[in-house]
Amino acid sequence: MSNYRELVNTFQKLEIPAERPVIVHASPLFLGGIEGGENALLGALTAVYDSILTPTFTYQTMVVPREGPENNGLDYKNPPESSQYAVFFEPDMLASSAMGELAEVMRTRTRANRSFHPILSFAGIHVKDALDAQTLSQPLAPIEVLADKDGWVLLLGVDQTANVSIHYAEQLAGRKQFIRWALTPAGVKECPNFPGCSRGFNALSPHIQYHVRKEAFGSTVITAMSLQAMIPLAQKLILEDPAALLCDKGDCARCEAVKSEK
Ligand SMILES: [Zn+2]
Repeated sequence: MSNYRELVNTFQKLEIPAERPVIVHASPLFLGGIEGGENALLGALTAVYDSILTPTFTYQTMVVPREGPENNGLDYKNPPESSQYAVFFEPDMLASSAMGELAEVMRTRTRANRSFHPILSFAGIHVKDALDAQTLSQPLAPIEVLADKDGWVLLLGVDQTANVSIHYAEQLAGRKQFIRWALTPAGVKECPNFPGCSRGFNALSPHIQYHVRKEAFGSTVITAMSLQAMIPLAQKLILEDPAALLCDKGDCARCEAVKSEK
């Protein structure tokens, strides 16, 4: 078990200037290794960094219509079972369990704000400009704002498949995006520019290895990288190879849809 002080020391070793905003992704294993769990983590993050963003996505609002656009990575005839149990988006709704405990602590923190995208919301402290930049059609605009401010990604015990910012690089490279739909009190909302699958994102690692800072923490590793270093390298990789960073699961509807656009 590590404590708050060790966590602060480890973050400081990464030597990311305090004024750089950070987007944070944390695994349950990472949180489980800290005395005080997610509250201690958020305390340590706010002690070291001025502004913090984390995804608070709400996949539980997603519905699949009976029909929709072709090549959209969806089987409209056989929608996922979760579509039947979709719930209406509310600004104070819980983040999906896949987002982890940090998302919940961030979302409920009084100093934190949350954006209003019904599926891809973010929450954060002192990042109101990034949150306000998000629109229904530009769900990854908060990443762009962070990149403009020389922001950093912190992967706490998670690998690149959790690195949402790579989706922004995919968009910049012109990769196919998707349409998804969310249940909201104002009706079903169409959400364009929805990103694809992230299961192939670890293939980015060798291309950014000289731009990554790593620190061991307990049984896990903290990986940090600047958005301004990572995004152009990911973008270049996709432009050179349109299948780069896609997963190798033959049954992945979204990666197959991207491949078929070549
Ligand atoms: Zn895939």
